[in-house]
Amino acid sequence: MNKISWSQVQTYVQCPYKWKLNYIDKNRKFTDSIYTVYGKAVHEVIQHYLTVMYDKSIKEADEIDMPNMLVDKVKYFYSEGVKNADGEHFSKQSELTEFCVQGAKALDWFKRHRGEYFTKKNWELLGIEVPIEDKYKSVGVLGYIDVLMRNTKTGKIKIIDLKTSTMGWKKEKTDPMKRGQLLFYKKFIADKYDVDISMVDVEFIIIKRIVWDKGDWPVKWIQRFEPPSANVSINRVFKQVDLFINEGFNKDGSYNTEATYEKLGVNTKCKWCEFAKSPEICDKGKK
Ligand code: SF4
Repeated sequence: MNKISWSQVQTYVQCPYKWKLNYIDKNRKFTDSIYTVYGKAVHEVIQHYLTVMYDKSIKEADEIDMPNMLVDKVKYFYSEGVKNADGEHFSKQSELTEFCVQGAKALDWFKRHRGEYFTKKNWELLGIEVPIEDKYKSVGVLGYIDVLMRNTKTGKIKIIDLKTSTMGWKKEKTDPMKRGQLLFYKKFIADKYDVDISMVDVEFIIIKRIVWDKGDWPVKWIQRFEPPSANVSINRVFKQVDLFINEGFNKDGSYNTEATYEKLGVNTKCKWCEFAKSPEICDKGKK
């Protein structure tokens, strides 16, 4: 059975032709950048801290040398990225060091203010990278939850998505495709744990890489954002998902290879597209 993920829905909304190139034509080209390397490294360090904190003790978690762990993870993911790019380097030592230094400050701040974001009182960790494997209409659904928590008093479940960002989220907070990710997961987590959808809350935790110290008020390296997640917002997201499935798949769940997929990413979005410099694959990127 063909499977969909939220990133496929996002790609389709951005440019249906790009989705076709990726998934029907199997032309996928994922290339790492310093941002993806740093993001993966920060995720793993925070996820490790939380696992130790909830499965062992806060004291043991606080003893973790997070900045050093970050350096090791950045080195690991960078070398993996270079390997996948057939040996081509995409960053340099000075840039990697700069990111590690900035990340160390954010992680140090996280450790000192951890209690504002994660507490053991009435909360348990259900899992890290919790898989979603479900079915929706004619397709399978695949996804992973960064951090999944349960309130032991109310029974409510909380989906947490960790994001790294240069200076935090501003316009991203109103971007339906950014917010939609957790609303999409919310339905499937409710199914997985057999609870009413109203028993699932969602939250983004955004780890900034750079903050401006304005002197007058305390600087926060971590931003919390809870997008509106009532039924009306969820229905809006699934309208988009339904449109994608109806256009991209046949009734039996196979790909719709007969459809004409629009090249929508003209102008700004083409700029970031992996096919923008491959006119033999897509001629629109040149415009
Ligand atoms: S180059 Fe532009 S039009 Fe072509 S696939 Fe990418 S986003 Fe779509």
